[in-house]
Amino acid sequence: MKGENIVTDHKLLEKMLDLPEFKITDLKHNEHDIRIYIEKKEKPSVCPSCGIMKPKLRVHSKREQEVRDKNIQGKRVGLIFKRIRYKCMECGATFYELSDSIAPKSRLTNRLRDYIAEESKRRSFIDLERELDISNVTIREIFLEEVKKLECGLDIETPSIIGIDEIHIQREGKHRKQAWALICNGDDHTVMDLLPDRNKSTIIEYFNNLKNPYSVQVVTMDMWEPYRDAVYQTLPNAKIVIDKFHVVKMANDALNTLRKSFKNRLGKKKNKSLKQERYLLLKREHDLKPLPDIAFRDAWFNEIPELKVAYDLKESLFKIYDASTKSEAKMLYNKWKASIPDDMSEFREVAKTIDNWYTEIFNYFDYKVTNAFVEGINSTIRAIESQGRGYTFEVLRAKVMFFINHKVDKPSYGSGTFSNILMSGFNLINETKDYGVPFENIIKAINEGLL
Ligand SMILES: [Zn+2]
Repeated sequence: MKGENIVTDHKLLEKMLDLPEFKITDLKHNEHDIRIYIEKKEKPSVCPSCGIMKPKLRVHSKREQEVRDKNIQGKRVGLIFKRIRYKCMECGATFYELSDSIAPKSRLTNRLRDYIAEESKRRSFIDLERELDISNVTIREIFLEEVKKLECGLDIETPSIIGIDEIHIQREGKHRKQAWALICNGDDHTVMDLLPDRNKSTIIEYFNNLKNPYSVQVVTMDMWEPYRDAVYQTLPNAKIVIDKFHVVKMANDALNTLRKSFKNRLGKKKNKSLKQERYLLLKREHDLKPLPDIAFRDAWFNEIPELKVAYDLKESLFKIYDASTKSEAKMLYNKWKASIPDDMSEFREVAKTIDNWYTEIFNYFDYKVTNAFVEGINSTIRAIESQGRGYTFEVLRAKVMFFINHKVDKPSYGSGTFSNILMSGFNLINETKDYGVPFENIIKAINEGLL
Protein backbone atom coordinates (compact mmCIF):
# COMPACT_ATOMS: atom_id res chain seq x y z
CA MET A 1 0.00 0.00 0.00
CA LYS A 2 2.76 2.37 0.94
CA GLY A 3 4.24 4.40 -1.85
CA GLU A 4 1.38 4.07 -4.28
CA ASN A 5 1.54 7.76 -5.15
CA ILE A 6 5.16 8.27 -4.41
CA VAL A 7 8.10 7.60 -6.63
CA THR A 8 10.37 5.21 -4.79
CA ASP A 9 13.30 5.52 -7.16
CA HIS A 10 15.57 8.07 -5.46
CA LYS A 11 17.21 9.19 -8.69
CA LEU A 12 13.85 10.08 -10.19
CA LEU A 13 12.77 11.72 -6.97
CA GLU A 14 15.93 13.81 -6.93
CA LYS A 15 14.92 15.11 -10.33
CA MET A 16 11.45 15.94 -9.06
CA LEU A 17 12.84 17.64 -5.96
CA ASP A 18 14.95 19.80 -8.23
CA LEU A 19 17.57 20.72 -5.67
CA PRO A 20 20.66 19.46 -7.53
CA GLU A 21 23.08 20.06 -4.66
CA PHE A 22 21.45 17.27 -2.64
CA LYS A 23 21.19 13.52 -2.83
CA ILE A 24 18.27 11.71 -1.26
CA THR A 25 19.18 9.09 1.30
CA ASP A 26 15.78 8.09 2.58
CA LEU A 27 12.09 8.81 2.28
CA LYS A 28 9.14 8.41 4.63
CA HIS A 29 5.57 9.32 3.99
CA ASN A 30 2.02 8.94 5.17
CA GLU A 31 -1.25 10.25 3.80
CA HIS A 32 -0.42 13.88 4.67
CA ASP A 33 3.32 14.26 4.86
CA ILE A 34 6.47 13.38 2.97
CA ARG A 35 9.80 13.46 4.79
CA ILE A 36 12.83 13.43 2.55
CA TYR A 37 16.29 12.82 4.01
CA ILE A 38 18.99 14.68 2.15
CA GLU A 39 22.73 15.23 2.19
CA LYS A 40 25.00 17.43 0.15
CA LYS A 41 26.55 15.67 -2.84
CA GLU A 42 29.83 17.57 -2.75
CA LYS A 43 32.27 18.46 -0.01
CA PRO A 44 32.98 22.21 0.43
CA SER A 45 35.54 23.35 -2.15
CA VAL A 46 37.08 26.03 0.03
CA CYS A 47 37.70 26.51 3.76
CA PRO A 48 35.86 29.66 4.93
CA SER A 49 38.52 30.20 7.58
CA CYS A 50 41.86 29.89 5.78
CA GLY A 51 40.56 30.24 2.24
CA ILE A 52 42.55 27.29 0.92
CA MET A 53 40.93 25.70 -2.13
CA LYS A 54 40.13 21.97 -2.00
CA PRO A 55 41.34 21.69 1.60
CA LYS A 56 41.76 18.38 3.36
CA LEU A 57 38.62 18.03 5.49
CA ARG A 58 37.52 15.64 8.17
CA VAL A 59 33.93 15.14 9.35
CA HIS A 60 33.75 16.68 12.81
CA SER A 61 30.04 16.22 13.63
CA LYS A 62 26.60 16.15 12.02
CA ARG A 63 23.37 17.96 12.74
CA GLU A 64 19.90 17.35 11.39
CA GLN A 65 18.09 20.45 10.18
CA GLU A 66 14.44 19.99 9.33
CA VAL A 67 12.96 22.48 6.89
CA ARG A 68 9.64 22.79 5.11
CA ASP A 69 9.55 22.85 1.34
CA LYS A 70 6.80 23.41 -1.22
CA ASN A 71 4.04 20.81 -1.28
CA ILE A 72 4.28 17.82 -3.59
CA GLN A 73 0.98 16.41 -4.84
CA GLY A 74 -0.82 18.28 -2.10
CA LYS A 75 1.28 16.68 0.61
CA ARG A 76 3.36 18.67 3.06
CA VAL A 77 7.04 18.19 2.48
CA GLY A 78 9.74 18.21 5.14
CA LEU A 79 13.40 17.98 4.20
CA ILE A 80 15.75 16.54 6.79
CA PHE A 81 19.13 17.90 5.88
CA LYS A 82 22.07 16.20 7.51
CA ARG A 83 24.40 19.17 7.72
CA ILE A 84 28.02 18.21 8.28
CA ARG A 85 30.45 20.12 10.39
CA TYR A 86 33.94 19.77 8.98
CA LYS A 87 37.33 20.26 10.50
CA CYS A 88 39.82 21.83 8.13
CA MET A 89 43.07 19.86 8.35
CA GLU A 90 45.00 22.81 6.92
CA CYS A 91 44.12 25.40 9.60
CA GLY A 92 42.29 23.46 12.30
CA ALA A 93 39.05 25.50 12.07
CA THR A 94 35.66 23.79 12.15
CA PHE A 95 32.66 24.94 10.10
CA TYR A 96 29.24 23.78 8.91
CA GLU A 97 28.83 23.16 5.21
CA LEU A 98 26.71 25.75 3.40
CA SER A 99 23.76 25.23 1.10
CA ASP A 100 22.35 27.36 -1.70
CA SER A 101 18.80 26.25 -0.93
CA ILE A 102 18.66 26.14 2.85
CA ALA A 103 19.87 28.97 5.07
CA PRO A 104 21.76 27.90 8.23
CA LYS A 105 19.06 28.35 10.88
CA SER A 106 15.98 28.55 8.70
CA ARG A 107 12.99 26.26 8.99
CA LEU A 108 11.98 26.83 5.38
CA THR A 109 13.79 26.30 2.10
CA ASN A 110 14.72 29.50 0.31
CA ARG A 111 12.33 28.70 -2.52
CA LEU A 112 9.41 28.17 -0.13
CA ARG A 113 10.23 31.51 1.47
CA ASP A 114 10.17 33.14 -1.99
CA TYR A 115 6.91 31.42 -2.80
CA ILE A 116 5.28 32.73 0.40
CA ALA A 117 6.67 36.22 -0.23
CA GLU A 118 5.05 36.29 -3.69
CA GLU A 119 1.78 34.59 -2.81
CA SER A 120 1.18 36.64 0.35
CA LYS A 121 0.96 39.75 -1.82
CA ARG A 122 -2.08 38.51 -3.70
CA ARG A 123 -3.74 36.06 -1.36
CA SER A 124 -5.10 36.17 2.16
CA PHE A 125 -2.84 34.71 4.82
CA ILE A 126 -5.57 32.31 5.86
CA ASP A 127 -5.61 30.89 2.38
CA LEU A 128 -1.84 30.35 2.37
CA GLU A 129 -1.90 28.96 5.88
CA ARG A 130 -4.43 26.39 4.73
CA GLU A 131 -2.39 25.41 1.70
CA LEU A 132 0.98 25.07 3.38
CA ASP A 133 0.09 24.48 7.02
CA ILE A 134 2.62 27.10 7.98
CA SER A 135 1.83 29.47 10.83
CA ASN A 136 0.32 32.88 10.28
CA VAL A 137 3.23 34.35 12.24
CA THR A 138 5.80 32.99 9.78
CA ILE A 139 3.77 34.15 6.78
CA ARG A 140 3.44 37.61 8.30
CA GLU A 141 7.18 37.79 8.98
CA ILE A 142 8.03 36.97 5.38
CA PHE A 143 5.38 39.34 4.03
CA LEU A 144 6.64 42.25 6.14
CA GLU A 145 10.22 41.61 5.06
CA GLU A 146 9.04 42.01 1.46
CA VAL A 147 7.16 45.18 2.32
CA LYS A 148 10.26 46.82 3.78
CA LYS A 149 11.73 46.90 0.30
CA LEU A 150 8.71 48.83 -1.02
CA GLU A 151 8.27 51.36 1.77
CA CYS A 152 10.38 54.19 0.39
CA GLY A 153 8.68 53.97 -3.02
CA LEU A 154 5.42 55.56 -1.81
CA ASP A 155 5.04 59.02 -3.29
CA ILE A 156 1.43 60.14 -3.12
CA GLU A 157 0.10 63.42 -4.49
CA THR A 158 -1.37 65.94 -2.07
CA PRO A 159 -5.06 66.73 -2.72
CA SER A 160 -6.94 69.93 -1.90
CA ILE A 161 -9.31 68.08 0.45
CA ILE A 162 -8.14 65.58 3.05
CA GLY A 163 -10.41 63.53 5.31
CA ILE A 164 -9.17 62.00 8.56
CA ASP A 165 -11.06 59.35 10.42
CA GLU A 166 -10.22 56.68 12.94
CA ILE A 167 -10.68 52.97 12.59
CA HIS A 168 -11.50 51.27 15.86
CA ILE A 169 -10.25 47.75 15.94
CA GLN A 170 -11.02 45.20 18.62
CA ARG A 171 -7.87 43.16 18.99
CA GLU A 172 -8.01 39.72 20.42
CA GLY A 173 -6.94 39.55 24.04
CA LYS A 174 -6.87 43.30 24.48
CA HIS A 175 -9.37 45.17 26.60
CA ARG A 176 -9.40 48.45 24.81
CA LYS A 177 -10.07 48.96 21.18
CA GLN A 178 -7.14 50.26 19.22
CA ALA A 179 -7.61 53.27 17.01
CA TRP A 180 -5.79 53.73 13.73
CA ALA A 181 -5.98 56.88 11.67
CA LEU A 182 -7.19 56.71 8.10
CA ILE A 183 -6.08 59.51 5.78
CA CYS A 184 -8.13 59.97 2.61
CA ASN A 185 -8.00 62.10 -0.49
CA GLY A 186 -11.32 63.94 -0.81
CA ASP A 187 -10.78 64.97 -4.44
CA ASP A 188 -10.26 61.46 -5.81
CA HIS A 189 -11.77 59.32 -3.04
CA THR A 190 -8.67 57.32 -2.37
CA VAL A 191 -6.81 56.13 0.70
CA MET A 192 -3.56 58.06 1.11
CA ASP A 193 -2.33 56.12 4.10
CA LEU A 194 -3.13 54.37 7.36
CA LEU A 195 -1.39 55.45 10.55
CA PRO A 196 -0.86 53.20 13.59
CA ASP A 197 -2.47 55.61 16.07
CA ARG A 198 -4.11 59.05 16.17
CA ASN A 199 -1.63 60.83 18.38
CA LYS A 200 -0.70 64.38 17.56
CA SER A 201 2.93 63.51 16.88
CA THR A 202 1.96 60.76 14.45
CA ILE A 203 -0.37 63.05 12.50
CA ILE A 204 2.16 65.89 12.48
CA GLU A 205 4.86 63.63 11.13
CA TYR A 206 2.55 62.43 8.39
CA PHE A 207 1.47 65.93 7.31
CA ASN A 208 5.04 67.18 7.45
CA ASN A 209 5.95 64.55 4.91
CA LEU A 210 3.18 65.43 2.47
CA LYS A 211 4.51 66.24 -0.97
CA ASN A 212 2.87 69.63 -1.02
CA PRO A 213 1.39 70.75 2.32
CA TYR A 214 0.47 74.12 0.78
CA SER A 215 -2.08 72.64 -1.58
CA VAL A 216 -4.38 71.35 1.18
CA GLN A 217 -7.38 73.69 1.41
CA VAL A 218 -9.76 71.70 3.60
CA VAL A 219 -9.39 68.93 6.15
CA THR A 220 -12.57 67.20 7.29
CA MET A 221 -12.50 65.44 10.65
CA ASP A 222 -14.20 64.47 13.85
CA MET A 223 -13.77 66.63 16.96
CA TRP A 224 -10.42 65.30 18.05
CA GLU A 225 -8.04 67.85 19.50
CA PRO A 226 -4.77 66.25 18.29
CA TYR A 227 -6.00 66.33 14.66
CA ARG A 228 -6.82 70.02 14.93
CA ASP A 229 -3.48 70.89 16.54
CA ALA A 230 -1.62 68.88 13.92
CA VAL A 231 -3.40 70.54 10.99
CA TYR A 232 -2.82 74.06 12.30
CA GLN A 233 0.84 73.31 12.87
CA THR A 234 1.59 71.75 9.52
CA LEU A 235 -0.86 72.79 6.79
CA PRO A 236 -0.65 76.57 6.34
CA ASN A 237 -3.57 76.95 3.90
CA ALA A 238 -5.96 74.41 5.35
CA LYS A 239 -9.31 75.15 6.92
CA ILE A 240 -10.76 72.51 9.18
CA VAL A 241 -14.36 71.40 8.66
CA ILE A 242 -15.91 69.30 11.39
CA ASP A 243 -18.00 66.57 9.92
CA LYS A 244 -21.64 67.55 10.36
CA PHE A 245 -22.79 64.03 11.21
CA HIS A 246 -20.52 64.02 14.23
CA VAL A 247 -22.08 67.30 15.38
CA VAL A 248 -25.71 66.24 15.07
CA LYS A 249 -24.88 62.88 16.59
CA MET A 250 -24.18 64.72 19.84
CA ALA A 251 -27.80 65.92 19.85
CA ASN A 252 -29.09 62.42 19.29
CA ASP A 253 -26.89 61.09 22.09
CA ALA A 254 -28.09 63.78 24.50
CA LEU A 255 -31.71 63.06 23.66
CA ASN A 256 -31.13 59.36 24.10
CA THR A 257 -29.62 59.81 27.57
CA LEU A 258 -32.56 61.97 28.61
CA ARG A 259 -35.05 59.51 27.15
CA LYS A 260 -33.69 56.72 29.35
CA SER A 261 -33.76 58.78 32.52
CA PHE A 262 -37.33 60.02 31.83
CA LYS A 263 -38.52 56.54 31.07
CA ASN A 264 -37.27 55.22 34.38
CA ARG A 265 -39.67 57.58 36.13
CA LEU A 266 -42.68 55.88 34.60
CA GLY A 267 -44.16 52.72 36.04
CA LYS A 268 -43.64 49.41 34.26
CA LYS A 269 -47.21 49.25 33.01
CA LYS A 270 -47.12 52.67 31.45
CA ASN A 271 -43.78 51.86 29.90
CA LYS A 272 -45.22 48.88 28.13
CA SER A 273 -48.14 50.76 26.63
CA LEU A 274 -45.83 53.18 24.88
CA LYS A 275 -44.01 51.85 21.89
CA GLN A 276 -40.88 52.20 19.82
CA GLU A 277 -39.98 55.46 21.42
CA ARG A 278 -36.25 55.15 20.74
CA TYR A 279 -36.81 54.84 17.04
CA LEU A 280 -39.45 57.55 16.96
CA LEU A 281 -37.36 60.05 18.82
CA LEU A 282 -34.06 59.55 17.08
CA LYS A 283 -35.46 59.67 13.56
CA ARG A 284 -35.78 63.04 11.92
CA GLU A 285 -39.25 64.48 12.25
CA HIS A 286 -39.70 64.77 8.49
CA ASP A 287 -39.07 61.03 8.11
CA LEU A 288 -41.98 60.04 10.35
CA LYS A 289 -45.42 59.11 9.07
CA PRO A 290 -48.33 61.02 10.62
CA LEU A 291 -49.87 57.65 11.48
CA PRO A 292 -48.87 55.79 13.45
CA ASP A 293 -45.43 57.35 14.08
CA ILE A 294 -46.36 60.88 15.08
CA ALA A 295 -49.34 59.70 17.07
CA PHE A 296 -47.20 57.32 19.10
CA ARG A 297 -44.54 59.94 19.60
CA ASP A 298 -47.04 62.51 20.81
CA ALA A 299 -48.43 60.01 23.27
CA TRP A 300 -44.96 59.99 24.79
CA PHE A 301 -44.84 63.76 24.86
CA ASN A 302 -48.16 63.88 26.74
CA GLU A 303 -46.77 61.55 29.34
CA ILE A 304 -43.40 63.32 29.65
CA PRO A 305 -43.47 66.99 28.58
CA GLU A 306 -39.69 67.39 29.09
CA LEU A 307 -39.17 64.77 26.44
CA LYS A 308 -40.75 67.11 23.91
CA VAL A 309 -38.37 69.88 24.96
CA ALA A 310 -35.38 67.60 24.46
CA TYR A 311 -36.77 66.36 21.17
CA ASP A 312 -37.24 69.88 19.86
CA LEU A 313 -33.68 70.73 20.84
CA LYS A 314 -32.47 67.77 18.83
CA GLU A 315 -34.53 68.69 15.79
CA SER A 316 -33.52 72.34 15.85
CA LEU A 317 -29.82 71.48 16.06
CA PHE A 318 -30.22 69.41 12.88
CA LYS A 319 -32.02 72.31 11.25
CA ILE A 320 -29.05 74.61 11.72
CA TYR A 321 -27.47 72.65 8.87
CA ASP A 322 -30.31 73.67 6.56
CA ALA A 323 -29.16 77.28 6.80
CA SER A 324 -28.03 78.71 3.48
CA THR A 325 -25.31 81.00 4.86
CA LYS A 326 -22.76 80.89 7.62
CA SER A 327 -24.24 83.94 9.36
CA GLU A 328 -27.74 82.47 9.29
CA ALA A 329 -26.36 79.27 10.78
CA LYS A 330 -24.59 81.16 13.54
CA MET A 331 -27.74 83.08 14.32
CA LEU A 332 -29.76 79.84 14.53
CA TYR A 333 -27.14 78.37 16.81
CA ASN A 334 -27.27 81.34 19.21
CA LYS A 335 -31.04 81.01 19.40
CA TRP A 336 -30.70 77.28 19.96
CA LYS A 337 -28.17 77.67 22.72
CA ALA A 338 -30.35 80.28 24.51
CA SER A 339 -33.31 77.90 24.43
CA ILE A 340 -31.65 75.11 26.43
CA PRO A 341 -33.32 74.83 29.86
CA ASP A 342 -30.91 75.16 32.78
CA ASP A 343 -31.59 71.65 34.01
CA MET A 344 -30.79 69.93 30.71
CA SER A 345 -27.08 69.56 31.27
CA GLU A 346 -26.85 67.00 28.45
CA PHE A 347 -27.59 69.71 25.89
CA ARG A 348 -25.51 72.30 27.75
CA GLU A 349 -22.58 69.93 27.24
CA VAL A 350 -23.34 69.77 23.52
CA ALA A 351 -23.29 73.57 23.35
CA LYS A 352 -19.99 73.62 25.22
CA THR A 353 -18.43 71.28 22.68
CA ILE A 354 -19.81 73.30 19.78
CA ASP A 355 -18.36 76.49 21.31
CA ASN A 356 -15.01 74.74 21.64
CA TRP A 357 -15.09 73.83 17.92
CA TYR A 358 -17.05 76.87 16.78
CA THR A 359 -14.81 78.02 13.93
CA GLU A 360 -14.29 74.55 12.54
CA ILE A 361 -17.96 73.56 12.81
CA PHE A 362 -19.21 76.69 11.05
CA ASN A 363 -16.52 76.41 8.37
CA TYR A 364 -18.89 73.82 6.95
CA PHE A 365 -21.03 76.60 5.54
CA ASP A 366 -18.11 77.86 3.44
CA TYR A 367 -17.17 74.49 1.96
CA LYS A 368 -20.14 72.11 2.41
CA VAL A 369 -17.93 69.06 2.69
CA THR A 370 -18.41 66.15 5.08
CA ASN A 371 -16.49 63.08 6.07
CA ALA A 372 -19.07 60.75 4.55
CA PHE A 373 -16.67 59.59 1.85
CA VAL A 374 -14.18 58.47 4.48
CA GLU A 375 -16.80 56.70 6.57
CA GLY A 376 -17.67 54.52 3.61
CA ILE A 377 -14.19 53.12 3.19
CA ASN A 378 -13.70 52.98 6.92
CA SER A 379 -16.56 50.54 7.33
CA THR A 380 -15.11 48.47 4.48
CA ILE A 381 -11.75 48.20 6.20
CA ARG A 382 -13.43 47.38 9.50
CA ALA A 383 -15.27 44.61 7.72
CA ILE A 384 -11.95 43.00 6.74
CA GLU A 385 -11.01 43.00 10.40
CA SER A 386 -14.25 41.48 11.56
CA GLN A 387 -13.77 38.56 9.20
CA GLY A 388 -11.10 37.45 11.65
CA ARG A 389 -8.19 37.72 9.28
CA GLY A 390 -6.00 38.47 12.25
CA TYR A 391 -3.97 41.04 10.38
CA THR A 392 -1.82 43.35 12.41
CA PHE A 393 -1.82 47.03 11.60
CA GLU A 394 1.41 46.68 9.59
CA VAL A 395 0.03 43.86 7.48
CA LEU A 396 -3.31 45.46 6.73
CA ARG A 397 -1.68 48.75 5.86
CA ALA A 398 0.84 47.06 3.58
CA LYS A 399 -1.86 45.01 1.87
CA VAL A 400 -3.86 48.15 1.16
CA MET A 401 -1.00 50.48 0.27
CA PHE A 402 1.33 48.20 -1.68
CA PHE A 403 -0.67 45.45 -3.30
CA ILE A 404 -3.82 47.14 -4.52
CA ASN A 405 -3.68 49.21 -7.69
CA HIS A 406 -3.32 52.92 -7.16
CA LYS A 407 -4.90 55.66 -9.18
CA VAL A 408 -2.04 56.98 -11.30
CA ASP A 409 -1.53 59.51 -14.07
CA LYS A 410 1.24 58.48 -16.39
CA PRO A 411 2.88 61.13 -18.52
CA SER A 412 1.22 61.15 -21.92
CA TYR A 413 2.99 59.52 -24.84
CA GLY A 414 5.70 61.72 -26.30
CA SER A 415 5.71 64.16 -23.43
CA GLY A 416 9.20 63.09 -22.49
CA THR A 417 10.79 64.11 -25.78
CA PHE A 418 14.17 65.72 -25.75
CA SER A 419 12.96 69.25 -26.47
CA ASN A 420 10.26 69.04 -23.82
CA ILE A 421 12.77 67.96 -21.26
CA LEU A 422 14.99 70.88 -22.14
CA MET A 423 12.07 73.28 -21.97
CA SER A 424 10.63 72.29 -18.65
CA GLY A 425 13.31 70.62 -16.63
CA PHE A 426 13.93 66.97 -16.04
CA ASN A 427 11.83 65.36 -13.39
CA LEU A 428 8.63 67.30 -13.84
CA ILE A 429 7.76 65.98 -17.21
CA ASN A 430 8.40 62.31 -16.73
CA GLU A 431 6.82 61.94 -13.36
CA THR A 432 3.99 59.48 -12.84
CA LYS A 433 1.48 60.90 -10.42
CA ASP A 434 0.13 58.61 -7.72
CA TYR A 435 -3.16 59.58 -6.11
CA GLY A 436 -3.41 56.71 -3.64
CA VAL A 437 -5.65 53.65 -3.51
CA PRO A 438 -9.19 54.15 -4.83
CA PHE A 439 -11.96 52.96 -2.53
CA GLU A 440 -13.46 50.82 -5.29
CA ASN A 441 -10.16 48.99 -5.77
CA ILE A 442 -10.11 48.09 -2.09
CA ILE A 443 -13.62 46.73 -2.28
CA LYS A 444 -12.68 44.78 -5.41
CA ALA A 445 -9.62 43.34 -3.67
CA ILE A 446 -11.78 42.15 -0.79
CA ASN A 447 -14.22 40.49 -3.17
CA GLU A 448 -11.35 38.77 -4.97
CA GLY A 449 -9.93 37.40 -1.72
CA LEU A 450 -6.73 39.41 -1.74
CA LEU A 451 -7.29 40.80 1.73
ZN1 LIG B 1 41.10 26.04 6.78
